[in-house]
Amino acid sequence: MIGILEKLSDKARAAQHWAVLVALREDQQQVGLNHLLAGIQCANPAMFTGVDLGQLGFSPLDVTDVEKVQQEMQKLSMRARISRAAEKPDEASAFSFPFAPASKLVLEAASDGANYLGSRTIGTPHLLLGIFKADSEMCAKLERANLGESRILSLCRDYREDDEGEAISEHIDEVRGRRYRSGIGYDLHRLAEGRKLIVGGMELPFDRGSVGHSDGDVLAHALCDALLGAAGLGDIGTHFPDSDPKWKGANSLQFLEHARKLLDEKEFAIEHVDAIVILEKPKLGPHFPKMREALAKALGVPADKIHLKAKTNEGVDAVGRGEAIAAHVVATLSQR
Ligand code: MG
Repeated sequence: MIGILEKLSDKARAAQHWAVLVALREDQQQVGLNHLLAGIQCANPAMFTGVDLGQLGFSPLDVTDVEKVQQEMQKLSMRARISRAAEKPDEASAFSFPFAPASKLVLEAASDGANYLGSRTIGTPHLLLGIFKADSEMCAKLERANLGESRILSLCRDYREDDEGEAISEHIDEVRGRRYRSGIGYDLHRLAEGRKLIVGGMELPFDRGSVGHSDGDVLAHALCDALLGAAGLGDIGTHFPDSDPKWKGANSLQFLEHARKLLDEKEFAIEHVDAIVILEKPKLGPHFPKMREALAKALGVPADKIHLKAKTNEGVDAVGRGEAIAAHVVATLSQR
């Protein structure tokens, strides 16, 4: 199931959201085929031009009251997470509202149809085809409503991934009330003998280390600035001034833990972190798994949200001469 969900186009995902909404409005515990059909119509009304909606047994969902929809989405999200987390803690997501077994069959049939027709993604026409193939009662209804097999197949052949892209997902994000923001962070420290080299919370064996008021962890500092920047909360110097003796020799993972608390207060979630550390020597790659774990632990996120890359400076400038270490980080946050 998870593999199929990943292949859904944005519009097909939207169709699922709307389907869940329809089910919720009818106070149903599961998403049935009627709900799915109504969801497809909401996500791609053009496909239903000239179709007798009355024959299909639903009236279009009224989505003009965005605030109400938003509340229902939150309710849904909460319920879905609770049920999913109890069942499979690793797969908790907003798309886990319980679908009726028949709806799961539809997704499988839609996936088979998309494969057969040579499409990498599953779009709204494939969902329609899935309903047509998976359930004889719905198949008869669709035919009566002027949505027979040949018309559905022709919609599938006309399907273009680009047409089912971002516009809808932005709309859904708007309805779900999530906003995405990115922040950038940069840091550089001089390297000197007699100092420890600490990068991403790990002490690396090397004859030089970074000079700084704290432990001089460039990666943690750049990451902290990226997070604070994305949240509009200033920078590391504002929160941990290097004039404050409290931070002398401090473990920089503490800064990240504190930044995480500030993000929590503003209900920001960390979506992704991408980082580059620039250093002539030693090689960082072998240490990345442990660094990711240490950073992830400090931030309270899974390690797969943190991506690390290493570069040398090709012998150029201070970094290239081994006199300094630098890091660039981009962090993406979302907020309800
Ligand atoms: Mg620094």
